[in-house]
Amino acid sequence: MNNFFRRLSLTSKLLLLTLFPLALIIYLALEVYNEKSNKVQLLEGYIDRITESAEISDLINALQIERRHSFAYGLKKDIDSHARMEVQRPATDLAIQKLEQRKDSTLKDFKDYTFLKNLGNIRKAIDGGASHDMAIQYYTTTIFRLNTLNIIVPVGNNRYLKPVFNDLITQKVLSEMATYLGIIRANFYNVLYTKQNMTGTLYSLAGVNEIYKSYETEFLAKASPASLAEYKNLRNNTALKPTNDYINKVFQKFSFDSLYDAEDWWKISGEGTDQLKSFQQDLMRRVQTTMNKEYKNEILSKDLTLVLIITALVLVFVIMTYTTHIITQMLRGLNEAAQKIAAGFTGVQTENVSHDVIGSLGESISKINANNKKLAEAADAIGKGNFNVPFEPRSKDDVLGNAIIKMKDNLRRFTMEIEKSKEQFRQVADNAPVMIWMTDENKLCNFVNKGWLKFTGRKKEQEMGYGWIEGMHPDDYSRCAEVFEEAFFERRGYSLEYRFRREDDEYRWLSETGAPRYSAEGKFEGYIGTCVDIHEMKVHEKRKDDFIKMASHELKTPVTSIKGYVQILLTMFNDYNKNKEEFSPVAIQTSLSTIDKQIVKLNRLMSELLDLSRIDSGKLELKMQSFSLNNLITETIEDVQHTTKHEIIIKNNADCNVFGDKDRIGQVLLNLLTNAIKYSLKTNSIEVNIYQPAKNCVSVSVTDHGIGIEKKDQEKIFERFYRVEGKSEQTYPGFGIGLFIASEIIHRHDGSIIVQSEKNKGSVFTFTLPVSSN
Ligand code: ADP
Repeated sequence: MNNFFRRLSLTSKLLLLTLFPLALIIYLALEVYNEKSNKVQLLEGYIDRITESAEISDLINALQIERRHSFAYGLKKDIDSHARMEVQRPATDLAIQKLEQRKDSTLKDFKDYTFLKNLGNIRKAIDGGASHDMAIQYYTTTIFRLNTLNIIVPVGNNRYLKPVFNDLITQKVLSEMATYLGIIRANFYNVLYTKQNMTGTLYSLAGVNEIYKSYETEFLAKASPASLAEYKNLRNNTALKPTNDYINKVFQKFSFDSLYDAEDWWKISGEGTDQLKSFQQDLMRRVQTTMNKEYKNEILSKDLTLVLIITALVLVFVIMTYTTHIITQMLRGLNEAAQKIAAGFTGVQTENVSHDVIGSLGESISKINANNKKLAEAADAIGKGNFNVPFEPRSKDDVLGNAIIKMKDNLRRFTMEIEKSKEQFRQVADNAPVMIWMTDENKLCNFVNKGWLKFTGRKKEQEMGYGWIEGMHPDDYSRCAEVFEEAFFERRGYSLEYRFRREDDEYRWLSETGAPRYSAEGKFEGYIGTCVDIHEMKVHEKRKDDFIKMASHELKTPVTSIKGYVQILLTMFNDYNKNKEEFSPVAIQTSLSTIDKQIVKLNRLMSELLDLSRIDSGKLELKMQSFSLNNLITETIEDVQHTTKHEIIIKNNADCNVFGDKDRIGQVLLNLLTNAIKYSLKTNSIEVNIYQPAKNCVSVSVTDHGIGIEKKDQEKIFERFYRVEGKSEQTYPGFGIGLFIASEIIHRHDGSIIVQSEKNKGSVFTFTLPVSSN
């Protein structure tokens, strides 16, 4: 049973819940309606009975009138009375007919036992001259008998008749009074009219009068205050007063006096009796009116009850249906909300209006939703790295809440570790001596290190995406793009060299190496690469190439020249041998001298190349000794002076010994002097100054007034293969290694070599050496 009830749908449960009370209401309503119907039926019966009573009363009334006229005619045999009698008879017949028409079992064959069956014969007898006594006797007997039928209803405690109870009783009493008064007045009339049997009549009427009086007493006792007042009014102010007064007086004196003659009495007592009857009929009408009113009220009440029942039923049904609908709707709403929550939605709205189990279910769902939302927001915030989001588990048994807290702690730790390793990477990247960059999976740059920014002199934001391309040399772009695109497409590493703009707007050669990078899950995330500034290396390589070209040229020229002169000499020799031709000693001298010069030049070139090779292999050996620097300089200048038109002026401002390789120092001086001559063709004075800038060192400066050297080249000229580029410089032969060797030699002697120069004004090369202690 329990299970069966549980399995029922909510609608069925609610229907069951309301069906029993509804059935009870219907049952009670039908009971009430039935009772109302019974009451109406009862009232209908009473009203019918009262109407019947009224009709009997009407018949009695008619018979009393007919009795009056028949009595008068029987007594007087006058036309007037006969006419009145004739007029009354159809009225009486009509009243009888009315009663006959009632299909009431209590009145069945009433004419048989109320003597009315004889009415026709009596009328005939009266018409035929029968005595007034017979007439009064017949009518009175019939009236008495009819009166016995006029037992309206058993009133008693009948609540339906309570409103008319008094009037019903008292009208009956009045009817009795009218009957008895009618008997008294007829007999009084008879005596006054015949003047006979006065005392006998009074004796026979004394009992009737007593009954009349007793009925009056009963009336006074039972009448309602209103009826009582009305009766008293009749009694004191109408014909009833003289009628009663006369009857009382006659019975007091027990004899008739001469106050009224027969006709006066007949008239006044007739009016008095009519007053009573009319009052009785009034009461009867009042009863009827009241009962009809009561009946109508009951009908109305019954209809109203029916309407109320139907309304109540409709209302109960509507309320029940509406309640079922609302409950179903509320539960459906909650179910939808719960399903949404189950599907992971947050921000689900529930309308919690009722303060009952559904309302509290809604509140619970709202709470679940709010908690869910809190959890989701916290998880979202934690997921975004906001570990300071305020979040507490809802209870110690909150598995999800505690899991989120745990997840938060773990994530915080992991994030910190990641941040740490990121920071380490950043530090490594920023402090690396190379430029580092990264792209995303769409080739867009998303990272450059400090080295990169330092090199380009730009802001990080400028380099992101494709911004960095602005720095690339336009001539290198398409080549590099092609290599990168291909490597990117195949997800492989690549190497590239290209020119890139430095912060000083100089394009520098960079060597780039790039490789694809992948996440821990193996997902391609873009490229990472490094760039190294190889500009110097590149320039150096170029210089080396230039040097090789130049060296081959420089070596070939003297060899070609020697070959030419040797051939001239050979021709001269052959001509002499074969033809004994004379040869020109000048020509031989010139040729041999040129050959010698070229050999010297070749020798110098080869020595320089040898020295370069020695320096490179660290095998440049120095033969250290103490020697006079002044002597070395004087000897060297003398040698050089023979070969040049330049005037070499020596300024000896110091005289010191130097501990070193005399030949190599001499080589240095020779190189400086050769350059001074070579690069100052138009001017012909060269100054050599020996001086001591400090006690422990000696400096030798070679000053020329030649083409000079620009500031930017002044440091570089000591590098190997470096030759100042320019139109004028191209015209001077050279390898660009002389100053490099000189600088190496001086530095090997713990000395220094510098240049001071101004373009087109001249140069001062100065080398400084430590002074020898002995
Ligand atoms: P090179 O054989 O080319 O002269 P060096 O090493 O002796 O080689 O000199 C390097 C460069 O320095 C030269 O090519 C030249 O441009 C410059 N140079 C050297 N000496 C002078 C000077 N006295 N005046 C002007 N330029 C000079």
